[in-house]
Amino acid sequence: MPEVKFRVDQSRLFAEQEVLGHNRWHPDVPPVATVRPGEEFRLECREWFDGAIRNDDSADDVRDCDFTQVHKLSGPIAVEGAEPGDLLMVDIVDLGPVPQEKGPVAGQGWGYTGIFARENGGGFLTDHFPGAYKAVWDFRGQTATSRHIPGVSFVGIAHPGLMGTAPSAELLARWNKREGDLIATDPSRVPPLALPPTAENAVLGSLSGAEFERAAQEAARTAPPRENGGNQDIKNLSRGSRVFYPVFVPGAKLSVGDLHFSQGDGEITFCGAIEMGGYIDLHVDVIKGGMEAYGVETPVFIPGRVEPRYSEYLAFAGLSVTESGEQRYLDSHLAYQRACLNAINYLTKFGYTPEQAYLFLGAAPIEGRFSGVVDIPNSCATVYIPTEVFDFDPRPSAGPPKRVDRGQCAVSSR
Ligand code: ZN
Repeated sequence: MPEVKFRVDQSRLFAEQEVLGHNRWHPDVPPVATVRPGEEFRLECREWFDGAIRNDDSADDVRDCDFTQVHKLSGPIAVEGAEPGDLLMVDIVDLGPVPQEKGPVAGQGWGYTGIFARENGGGFLTDHFPGAYKAVWDFRGQTATSRHIPGVSFVGIAHPGLMGTAPSAELLARWNKREGDLIATDPSRVPPLALPPTAENAVLGSLSGAEFERAAQEAARTAPPRENGGNQDIKNLSRGSRVFYPVFVPGAKLSVGDLHFSQGDGEITFCGAIEMGGYIDLHVDVIKGGMEAYGVETPVFIPGRVEPRYSEYLAFAGLSVTESGEQRYLDSHLAYQRACLNAINYLTKFGYTPEQAYLFLGAAPIEGRFSGVVDIPNSCATVYIPTEVFDFDPRPSAGPPKRVDRGQCAVSSR
């Protein structure tokens, strides 16, 4: 086992660990450890919501969770010799749930997916799903099943939802400016257009006193992907992936968290991936001057070689036409929404509630594609569902779909 450079005691809260990680992006968060190029090391991770979401049959925890808490990140790790303008080459050697532990925290033999309420987070289809819902998934080896979504069993594609390097002060200021400008166009929107910096619940490693106060006011929230990588939620960053991150500060300051047991393309319910704490083994190297040499300003990656082996899919298409029939011009976001809604509607014919189907699409290793983006006026997006994950045949045939009672996912009390 590689040397552990960041330890997590899963019985303690993130802010009560012996060494503190962070939940904001800021260049001044001090490194928790330094590694050399060529070194392999392990980081232990807390699940993104710090154990607030429980293994039970109520979605009240999802309804009430506090977004200023997230994401719980392990790091930063400084890499010797890395300088702004370099590329940091990160190999994902291995990752998984908390080894050899069963327990009450996600990652200890189980994980969860959630649909966030419109008033608290929202999601890709929040107009159709304004309430809070949850599904708990049990892990057996690489396989996930859920008492909340019966009839489904699939091999996960484990990956870190979030990994990245620290921004420079200049880059951080640029993020805050452009995201602030966007928020200003509709400041009272629900859900919000973006999340501005807030000192509330900020954890910035070992920063303290006046330095902490200053940094907490300006540190970027971790929800969006940005030029440093961040919350990219790319399911194909699985074992064997190699990611090339731009370096913006001396030492690069690599951080990782938000491990996922599985996820569908788009992570559509927002907390669509199966969330877990666990471990990740990384190997790092540095390409001097790589940003300029290769013209790289956002991460480039080689997808992992380990993924579920599904060969048969049922695919649904969506167009850039609103539900009320209005034609939109090549709107691929809308087209993917319509594709997902078509898939959800189809799955209800087999007895799933729309919420169960939505949660399934977020969690299972479905493929989402922008299939056509030039055929004016309609963009065409598609979502591919592996048919082998069901314990029934979901394909259309001469007979009617076989509808059975599949219960309900976890719902909230009001
Ligand atoms: Zn996540």
